[in-house]
Parts: sequence; C-alpha cells; structure tokens
Amino acid sequence: MRPEILYPLFADISSVKGIGERSYKLVCNLLGGKRVADLLWHLPSSLVDRRYSPRIREAQPGRIATIKVRIVEHLPPRTSKQPYKVLVEDDSGQMLLIFFKVYADSIQKNLPVGEERLVSGKTESFNGMLQMSHPDYIVRPSEADKLPLIETVYPLTAGISNKMLNKWIKQALQRIPKLPEWLNDEFLRRQNWVSFNQALLRAHHPRTAGDLLPTAPERMRLAYDELLANQLTLAIARQKVKKQPGREIKGNGLLRKKVLEQLPFQLTTSQEKVLKEIFADQGAPFRMLRLLQGDVGSGKTIVALMTMLNAVECGAQAAIMAPTEILAKQHLETMQPLCEGAGIRAALLTGRVKGKNRKMLLDELAEGKIDILIGTHALFQEEVVFKDLACVVVDEQHRFGVHQRMGLSNKGCRPDILVMTATPIPRTLVLTAYGDMEYSKIDQPPAGRKPVDTRVLSVSKINYVVAALQRKIASGCRAYWVCPLVEESEKTDLAAAEERFETLRKIFGNDVGLVHGKMKEKDKDEVMERFKSGEIKLLVATTVIEVGVNVPEATVMVIEHAERFGLAQLHQLRGRIKRGFEASSCILMYSYPLSDTSRERLNIMRQTEDGFLIAEKDLELRGGGEILGTRQSGFCAFKLADIEAHKDLLHIANQDAKMILELDPELASPRGQALRVLLYLFERDDAVRTYSA
Ligand code: ADP
Ligand code: MG
Repeated sequence: MRPEILYPLFADISSVKGIGERSYKLVCNLLGGKRVADLLWHLPSSLVDRRYSPRIREAQPGRIATIKVRIVEHLPPRTSKQPYKVLVEDDSGQMLLIFFKVYADSIQKNLPVGEERLVSGKTESFNGMLQMSHPDYIVRPSEADKLPLIETVYPLTAGISNKMLNKWIKQALQRIPKLPEWLNDEFLRRQNWVSFNQALLRAHHPRTAGDLLPTAPERMRLAYDELLANQLTLAIARQKVKKQPGREIKGNGLLRKKVLEQLPFQLTTSQEKVLKEIFADQGAPFRMLRLLQGDVGSGKTIVALMTMLNAVECGAQAAIMAPTEILAKQHLETMQPLCEGAGIRAALLTGRVKGKNRKMLLDELAEGKIDILIGTHALFQEEVVFKDLACVVVDEQHRFGVHQRMGLSNKGCRPDILVMTATPIPRTLVLTAYGDMEYSKIDQPPAGRKPVDTRVLSVSKINYVVAALQRKIASGCRAYWVCPLVEESEKTDLAAAEERFETLRKIFGNDVGLVHGKMKEKDKDEVMERFKSGEIKLLVATTVIEVGVNVPEATVMVIEHAERFGLAQLHQLRGRIKRGFEASSCILMYSYPLSDTSRERLNIMRQTEDGFLIAEKDLELRGGGEILGTRQSGFCAFKLADIEAHKDLLHIANQDAKMILELDPELASPRGQALRVLLYLFERDDAVRTYSA
C-alpha cells in the first residue's frame, strides 16, 4: 500500500549504523517510534556555537571557544584527587587543559608534547590563568572538519549521547528520498518556504537560536505539512460520510412534545438553538456528523433524547453510547420514565446483561420492539443487530476518534451521528480532532444555577475543613472527598485513599464510603447507590467519579492534592457538585511544593467556572509543547507542529484541505498523488485507503 518511495523512511531504525541492541530500546523510547522517519521528526532543541576562536590571551572566560594550541608539558597529578593538567600555548600566551579521572595514557596519546591541536570547550579563568576542563573536542589541525563549528543539540535521554544522535540523524537525513511537492507553488512562494527535504535538512542544521523557534520558516513548513496531513484526513472522512446518502429524518414532533410536557423545566435558548441545528442536519438528505459541546450540567442529556426521538418518530431506532456502565445506567434512569410516558421503549445493554435476558433483549431489538437502546461500547458488537438504526449519540467520549467514526459507517447501516463532549475543548483542538464534523455548542447553563464557592487551602488547614464538613453533613448535605490517583504509583495513591478513608471513618463513622478504580464494577456501583440513596453521606473517591456521575444532593467537594490535577480534570470534578440549585462549595487543598503553574491553575479555578475559558487557559499553561495532557484525552499528538505556536497554520491547512478536495475529490491529479504521499508519510494510511476501498 505504502508508496515505495517512502520505504527508506519507514525502515526500522535498527538499520541505522551504530544503533545496536543496547541503544535501540532507549532511542525508540526517546523518539516515540522505531522508524527512520522518527529520527527525522526529532528536531534539535538548542545549539552550541563553536565559531568563537580567539587567541589565548584574548579569550573571554565563560564562553565556548575553539582554540588552536601547541602542547607544552604534561602535569600529572600528585594525588588521585587532583586533576591531570596539560599546559598548552599559542603566540599570545598559555593556558591549562584540565582532566579529572581520565587515564593518563589516553591524554598523552591525544595531546603529544610539541604538536598542535584544536581544542574546543568552555573556558574559565582560575587563579588568573585561562583553562578548559574536559574539552568537548580535541582534533588535529588537519582534521578540523571533524569539529562541528555549530553543534546541534537534541533532546536526550539517559544512555544516548548527543554525538550518537547527531551521527544517526545525519544518516537518516541522507536517506530522505526526493519527494514530489505537495504544496501549491504560489503558496510556497508567498510563504517563502523551501521544499520538504530542504526544510528537514535546515531544521536539523540550525545556524542561530532563531532557527530553533517554531516560527523559523523551515519549522513552519514542516509543521504545515503535518497539519495538512491531519486536516486532509479529517476532510476525507467528512467527504466520505457526506457522500453517503442519508435519510431525511423529519419526525412529526409528537413524541418530543410528550416528553417535553413531562419535564419540570423549559429548554433554554441555548438548548433550543442546538436542537434546531441538529434537526436541520437530520432532515437533510445526507448523514449527520455533528459534535455537541456543552459544559458539565449544561443539559446535553435532554438534547440527546430529543435527537433520538426525532428518529423514533419516523419509525426508526436510536442508540446512545456512554463510556461507562454507571453513566449508561444513569441515562437509563433519566430517559426510561420519559420514554414510557411517551409510550415508547428504552432499554439498557451493557456487558453485564447476560444469558437469557441478553438474548431476549437482542431479539426485541432486531424485531424493532425497542426504540431507544442505551449502553456502553457493547452496543457495537457484531451480535447487536438493529431492525432500523437511524441515529447514534455518543456521549462524553474522546476516545471515539476519527478512525472509529470511519469504522461505524462501515457497519452497513448509516445512522446519523451526534458526538457529545463535556470537556470544553479549545477551538484549535476541536479543529484537529473533530475537523470533520459540524459543530454545536451549548454556551449557557440552565438559569438559576448558583455559582460554586471555590476555596483554595493548604493541607495544613485540614482540621478546619473536617470541622466544616461535619457541620455541612449534620445539616443534611452530601459530600465527595477526592484523593488523586496518579498513574506512576497507583499503589501508593490507593493506599493514600484508603488511609484517608480510615481517618475520616474515625470521625464520621458509617457515614463514610470508599470508591476507587481498583474495585469491581459491581462493588463500585453498590457504593455509588448507597451514596445516591443517602445511606453514605461522605464519599471518599479516587478520580473514578470524574465521569458524569449524577447525585444532585452532593453539594460539597474536597479535593486533596489539587495541585496534581490538570485544569480540565479539576473542572470536570467540580462539575459533579453543580447539579442542584442549592449553593455548593469546593475546597481545593494543596501541599507544597507548589509550582508556579499549579498555583496559577488553582487561581483560575477560583476565579471562573466557564469551562471554555478554563480549557483555553489550560492549553496556554501547558503550552503546545507539552502534549501529555492532550494525549491522555485522546487528541492526536503532533510531532512537528506546536498547536499553540502554529495555530494560524492550522486554520490555513483547514481551508487548504477543503479546497483540495473540492477541486480533486479523488486525489487523482499530480498534486493529489503527491498529497497521498504526504498522508502516508504521516501515517494517515486509513485516509488513503478509503480511496482504494
Ligand atoms: P450534562 O450536559 O452534563 O449531561 P445534564 O443533561 O445531565 O447535563 O443536565 C444537568 C441537570 O440539569 C439535569 O438535572 C437536568 O435535568 C437539568 N436541566 C437540563 N436542562 C435544563 C433546563 N433547560 N432547565 C433546567 N434544568 C435543566
Ligand atoms: Mg451528560
């Protein structure tokens, strides 16, 4: 499938001379890949300029200098603690080369008395004498070319030296094939960009500090190529969906009316607005692929139900997929009574529905007796057959990536798809992860919500917090106590949660419960049930409660080690207590050491509840370079592009991708063919495959 021209870049890096068994694993980890291309994507982080070559007397101490010297005399140490010194000179004066813990033999061999050498390294002044400790380079004047005047420095890992990386990357650069140009000539000229090959070469040979910035032209070119591959993939996915005829879902509104009548509230203008957008999509003669963003508590569930009812009104079926069992059950609890009231059937299908019940459910589903199926990803197993599925809602699911979206349409049926996410995502990230979808946003919570009183306290105030909790609980409140679970040491964190549970139990007795990720699903649910019913009033939890659990009576949350959480996570957690219309309070407890970023995060949490603002700040604070958080949430991590720094390029790539497909939907033109190479280069094979399929 992959074009032959790219083979050299996709070869395993063990084919690079010098990468042996020992370094192989280390370098793969460092690069996050094991292909020759991964070496190329590893761009330098700094440079060492060795061009400063003064005479000894004129050398400024503290600078990196390359000096031509003659060896005068070796001064071996008298005790083993002293360094080995070598006196050297030029016409202007003398200096010392200093070596700690080095074999005298090798020094004598490398620096024979009377001969000349180029030495390069950091100089310093000691007792009025210039000296250089452990020169980085010692070479004969005849081999001056072995001394790189500008040395490229790469991000490293233990066991891999910069010299090794330089050597390997040099080989990788020699393997770049001549690739066809996939960018538009005029655009290249306007941007003043060089070819992809040239750009890679230059990016690996920076001349100044400016060349290392994301704004350097060669880095921009490379970033653009990667972003274009990303945007083109999404545009192709979108084109594929749009090309498929969909059915026109235009229900008569009767079921929707019956459900709305049962609600104790009216839809907000924001909910009305997104529903209008969704109904318009459903009514159009092609498939819907829409993202619905709405903060925690903004009222997405009812929007999902309305969307599904529209399909049911047309005699079809609908399904909603939640990421966890607890959430699926919660949806059932909300939706089932409303559906019954409207005279239709909703049912739950999870991995735990087994045996006879499962068989019966599946039969009824196939016969069309169930109108709305609620479940986890078990919904999309092969054995699950609908009579006539017209609408799928995917709830709070970042992991539902573009590949799955493409996969769903391969299932034979072509339902409309609505993806709902409660994580406010900054606009730029929406574009990189969901650029193939239409986009709606509930930007306003139901009226009358009281703001959460958020306080930031040092853990030293824990007694005060416990006392306040006692008062709250005595007055009938329910509360969460969140202990962090940090991946690297789940065990110790679990221990911390259990320990906290024990101490709190001494104070609160049987009012306290514990729920954590290591518990069996059944036990988890049971504890949650007891918390919901009020049997437990204080729930000690690891972050398992993060996702969507709805206990309206819970109005207090204490988060321990709040400094360890990311902004998005804190926001999600706090959302758990924003459900009711009563005042609620959140206490963020921190421990030292507190980094500037953590402090800033906590401040933001105190200042705002606007999820979108929080998300923007989050991206800003993390910086585009730090992709950890985004990788966890399932967003694609870029190798060459820096989402913050290259935001503008992303928008251009988005437009470019659309235009490309408009002019050449099959990518058949010469530029189209070149773009296919680009897609393969950035491992978007799926996107290209849709053409051959
Ligand atoms: P989320 O967007 O987090 O899924 P939900 O759909 O669970 O939010 O809604 C949160 C709460 O707000 C629910 O208790 C729901 O009944 C209520 N709610 C939804 N829409 C409205 C509205 N228009 N007016 C008042 N309350 C509403
Ligand atoms: Mg929800």
